[in-house]
Amino acid sequence: MPNLRESVAAALNSSLDSDEMHERPIDRLGAFSKSKRLGTLLWRVKYDNDAKSYKPALLLLTRFFLRRGEGRKFVETICKCALDEWLMDKCKHCGGSGQVLHGQVLITCTSCNGTSIQRFTDRQRAKAMHMKIEQVEKLNKRLGLIHDFLGDIDRKVNVKTNIELERI
Ligand SMILES: [Zn+2]
Repeated sequence: MPNLRESVAAALNSSLDSDEMHERPIDRLGAFSKSKRLGTLLWRVKYDNDAKSYKPALLLLTRFFLRRGEGRKFVETICKCALDEWLMDKCKHCGGSGQVLHGQVLITCTSCNGTSIQRFTDRQRAKAMHMKIEQVEKLNKRLGLIHDFLGDIDRKVNVKTNIELERI
């Protein structure tokens, strides 16, 4: 069975008259749309490269993490940084495979230690958020929380869609 994220992305692009064996794109879309709005927007951006869904996703994310007494713009900047990192989470050195060619031998990528995950430095974050490194250091924990939240939502859409499709 194909990866569900890819299947949903394909379904978003397909016409609705395909006659696949038993689970048609329309079924997947129906199941997928039962998830919460932020989740479906995130899937559209990340797995379907749908640029239109980026802004509403950022808006909902910012609304969720906005605390009393904080400037909306400030929170949006942090959320945007976390969202962009989440969207570009594949190691740039190995392209997310965890391995690189060394001569004719495949070796573990030294950049991500084989995890395939792109890590972002304080310097990169400072640049992305137009802030000083000292400011970024104070925000790292919060960025981590937003990352956890995004990962959680991503998993929930996957589980919910699988349940709706009676795959699990
Ligand atoms: Zn790597």
